[in-house]
Amino acid sequence: MNKRRRVYEGKAKVLYEGPEPGTLIQHFKDDATAFNNKKHALIEGKGVLNNRISEYIFTKLGEIGVPTHFMRRLNMREQLIREVEIIPLEVVVRNVAAGSMATRLGLEEGKALPRSIIEFYYKNDELGDPLVTEEHITAFGWATPQEIDEVMALALRVNDFLSGMFLGVGIRLIDFKIEIGRVYEGDFQRLIVADEISPDSCRLWDIETGRKLDKDVFRQDLGSLSDAYTEVAPEPVLVELVGSCDVP
Ligand code: 5GP
Repeated sequence: MNKRRRVYEGKAKVLYEGPEPGTLIQHFKDDATAFNNKKHALIEGKGVLNNRISEYIFTKLGEIGVPTHFMRRLNMREQLIREVEIIPLEVVVRNVAAGSMATRLGLEEGKALPRSIIEFYYKNDELGDPLVTEEHITAFGWATPQEIDEVMALALRVNDFLSGMFLGVGIRLIDFKIEIGRVYEGDFQRLIVADEISPDSCRLWDIETGRKLDKDVFRQDLGSLSDAYTEVAPEPVLVELVGSCDVP
């Protein structure tokens, strides 16, 4: 059997060399980590759910003209993606006060923000992904001012799309994180949404009850993470998952 070359292994995913130049295979693991790896568990089925949820969201984003790295699903846990040059930033969009921003600024959790707020964190596990400003980003050459504008525009489009999608199924999008990468097409360079969008990277609360349906369930020991993620999975994803279980 061909042994694939592993390009990168993160906390929840592995990237393997793809079948053609400029492609990679993104493999979703069942590992759940929090607090910069201090809390770790294996949640059976999480990788399968996140593979499908991220595929669903990226496909829909593509349909409304938001470019993403997603090419096609390969199997239950893997998808073919475009190789990108990742901008070393976690781009967080917040609609409601929660998490680290609520703590940092002493805000009441659950309070709607006056407007959506975009924050940048420098992707560096050793430093615990510190919050940075545009000054740091441009001074250290992580992105140009023009790229920052493009990243913010992409982030807001993703926010509008996700907020509407989740609202339609009774879920409030509190905040989320995305990562952006550069791709080169001839002389041109474009920015596209990379990594994943799943309940691992979003805060999602039930609109009626406020119940948490995201990775905070794991971070705060609030119950079964895979049950919460199954609740979030859009119906077509669930139908496909059930269907795929019937395949011998
Ligand atoms: P906070 O800064 O409040 O911890 O996180 C803000 C949002 O970004 C939350 O939806 C959280 O899930 C997401 N987020 C922040 N850092 C990470 C990270 O390192 N990995 C993932 N998957 N999501 C993150």
